[in-house]
Amino acid sequence: MDVIEKAVRKHFKFSLNSKLCSNCLEKYTNLYQIDKLLHMNAKAQSKLGIDSNQEERLEARDVARYVKASISVIDKNKADVLFPEIEL
Ligand SMILES: [Zn+2]
Repeated sequence: MDVIEKAVRKHFKFSLNSKLCSNCLEKYTNLYQIDKLLHMNAKAQSKLGIDSNQEERLEARDVARYVKASISVIDKNKADVLFPEIEL
């Protein structure tokens, strides 16, 4: 079992010896990766406030673009629904 599968099982609280078919493993791995990307974006956006300067706003925008592009590779429709304001 690789590192990602271990992390996915831990995230969804699946025991290490339970059986997962390859379709389910792929599905849960994708959900796990999208969750991690959304956390990354939430962290970046939460640092912004009314006193944020232009550079800080552009940095947060770059994180959102990266996150949308990464999610798009996994699920394009989900990326478009979650980030309608970001053009890739
Ligand atoms: Zn399955």
